[in-house]
Amino acid sequence: MPKEIKVILKKEFEQKVKEGYPLLHSEFIEDWSLLKEEGAVLKLYDSRGKFVAKAYYGVQNKGYGWILSRKESEVIDSGFFARRFKEAVKYRKEFFNNTQTTAFRLFNGEGDGIGGLTIDYFDGFLVITWYSFGIFKFKDEILKALQEVLEFKGIYQKRRFDAKGQYIGDESDFLLGEKAPEPLIVKENGVNFAVYLDDGAMVGVFLDQREVRKTIRDKYAKGKTFLNTFSYTGAFSVFAALGGSKETTSVDLAKRSLPKTTEQFTINGIDLNRQKIIVADVFDYFKYAYKKGFKYDLIVSDPPSFARSKKRTFSASRDYTKLLKEIIAITEKNGVIVASTNAANFGMMKFKGFIDKAFKDMKIKYKIEESFSLPKDFKVDPKYPQGNYLKVLFVRKIG
Ligand code: SAH
Repeated sequence: MPKEIKVILKKEFEQKVKEGYPLLHSEFIEDWSLLKEEGAVLKLYDSRGKFVAKAYYGVQNKGYGWILSRKESEVIDSGFFARRFKEAVKYRKEFFNNTQTTAFRLFNGEGDGIGGLTIDYFDGFLVITWYSFGIFKFKDEILKALQEVLEFKGIYQKRRFDAKGQYIGDESDFLLGEKAPEPLIVKENGVNFAVYLDDGAMVGVFLDQREVRKTIRDKYAKGKTFLNTFSYTGAFSVFAALGGSKETTSVDLAKRSLPKTTEQFTINGIDLNRQKIIVADVFDYFKYAYKKGFKYDLIVSDPPSFARSKKRTFSASRDYTKLLKEIIAITEKNGVIVASTNAANFGMMKFKGFIDKAFKDMKIKYKIEESFSLPKDFKVDPKYPQGNYLKVLFVRKIG
C-alpha cells in the first residue's frame, strides 16, 4: 500500500476543496516536489491543521490529482476500490439487465468517485482507461477489487498518460481472463456493433452517443437523405439506415473508416447499395457537394475537438461556426443538423452561441429541436460539471 503524505492546501483554495470540488490543480499546493512519486496518497489539511480529504497524486492535463475520500479513517486499499465499484455496479443495474444494450460505461471517473479512471463494459469484457501514471500505480488493488465485485470474462486496458494524455500503445492491451473475439459483437438498442478491444486507443464505438443514435433512428431518419461527417466507423449511419433513411453518406479522412463502416453495415444486414462511404477531408467534401448541388435532409456534425491534417488544423472552440456554415449550405429546407461536440473547453451556452452565429451570418432562421448531454451511465460529479463534456443539439433549418 502506498504511504500517505501530509500536505497543506493553500489557504485560498481550501474552501473549494471542502465544498466538494474533486480535482487538485497544481496551484492548490505550494510545493509538489516534496511528493516525488505519482500514485502517492495525499492527506490534505487546511491552514489551521484540520483534515480535509485524501487524494492521489497523478498528473493529467486537467490537474495534478483527484480527491478519493473525505473520511480520515478510510484507507486507500483494494477494499476502498471495491466499495466504489460496488456502488457503480448498483447504479447501473438496469444496464446489466438489458439484453438489447450490452455495452455501457461501468465507471466514469470522478462521477463515480475516482477521477482519472474509467471502465467500459462490452458484453462481459472490461476496458480500463488509466489517465495518469498515478492512478495506474493502483492497478493491482483495482484489479483485485474488480474481481471481488463483479463477474467478467476478461479485462483490457488503455493507458493514456504520456504528457499530452495520448494513448500509449506498444504491446497488447489484454490484461487477464479470457480474450475477446475480434471483432466482439455488442448490442446497442438492438443494433450490432463490431468492437476491437485490442486495436489501439479506440475500440470502434463511442458509447456516450447512445441516445443520440437512438433518436436519429427512431425520430429523424425515415425517408431522409443522411450525411455523416467525421463518421469514424459509421455508427450514426447504421442507425440512420435502420431508421429507414433513403440513403446514407459517411465521410471520414481515415482510410480505415471504409472497411470499418462496411463491417458495421454488414453485421446489421443493411443493403450496401444505398450507403456511400467516402474517405476524404470533410472540408473538401463540402466544396464538392456544394458544386454538385447535393443537399441532405439530415446531417451529423461530430468533429474531434482538435485535429491536425496535412492541409489544416481544426479546433472545435475556434472553428465550429465555420464548419456549421459549410453544413448549412448543403442542408435541405427544413432539414436537420445534428451538431455535436465533445470539447471540454467550452459549455452548452457557448456552443449555442456558435450555432446562432453561423445561422445569423447566413441570414437563415433555425429552431433547436432537441438537446443532449452525457447519458446516465456517464455519471457526472455535480461539483465538477466540466466533466459533462458532451453537447449535442438537433437544429432545424427553417426556410
Ligand atoms: N462521429 C463518430 C466519431 C468521430 S471521431 C462516431 O460517432 O462514431 C473523429 C473522426 O474524425 C475520426 O475518425 C477522424 O479520422 C475524423 N477526422 C478528423 N479530421 C477530419 C477531417 N478533416 N475530415 C474528415 N474526417 C476527419
